[in-house]
Amino acid sequence: MAKIRTQLVTWDEVVRWSRGLANKVIESGFRPDVVVAVARGGYVPARLLCDFMMVNNLTSIQSQHWTEAAKAEERAIIKYPYKIDLNGMKVLLVDDIVDTGESLLLAKNYILKNWGPSEVKVAVLQWISSAAKFKPDYYFIEVKEWIWFQYPWTRLEDTYQFFKKMLFEEGKYGRKRWTYQELIKGFMEWFDLDVGEDYFKDAIRLLVNNGILRKEDETYILVMQ
Ligand code: ADP
Repeated sequence: MAKIRTQLVTWDEVVRWSRGLANKVIESGFRPDVVVAVARGGYVPARLLCDFMMVNNLTSIQSQHWTEAAKAEERAIIKYPYKIDLNGMKVLLVDDIVDTGESLLLAKNYILKNWGPSEVKVAVLQWISSAAKFKPDYYFIEVKEWIWFQYPWTRLEDTYQFFKKMLFEEGKYGRKRWTYQELIKGFMEWFDLDVGEDYFKDAIRLLVNNGILRKEDETYILVMQ
């Protein structure tokens, strides 16, 4: 398997990037009446933007990609469609990253059609310009080459999924047993990512609880693949 290019994002960076993003919006002269977070990735940046921009009104919308097994293409859906009245209001729609941009575009169009705002502008921490279908109105960092950003709000989920990838891949080549230290060393080699002791422990516990690994004395054995 081709190794995934990753970059760890710290809480401090999230705050610094959100402050920088808020300043870009402020400098442009746009004064949102309400901030809308795109769930789930937009929650933390949206809350920080409210703080840095002194905006009291915050709501959210969940938009996500849906992969249909039968089709190669992916489609985005609004998970919990609901209506609110934002008649005449200016909206700042916030997400962590524009990758393909599809789920964000869907959220924007849904809000324009159903919530009646006068304007919707999009702000993200990062914009992958080589992958995205559109350019957000505001972004703090332009990413030219695709990379997986390991944000603090998906640290356990990502660690768990990355471990699974590593285990299944090594399992294909006949490996079945690891010590705790070998699991962590393997992870760091595979993904060039150190998420810290607590996350490694939690993810390995989850792998055991979910029946992917079995612990026998000091060895972890691959059960499911
Ligand atoms: P879109 O590109 O339309 O936002 P995606 O399905 O590509 O839709 O992304 C949805 C969410 O998945 C993002 O908001 C983010 O939380 C996560 N995500 C996508 N790409 C990346 C990436 N390269 N690094 C980290 N998280 C990502």
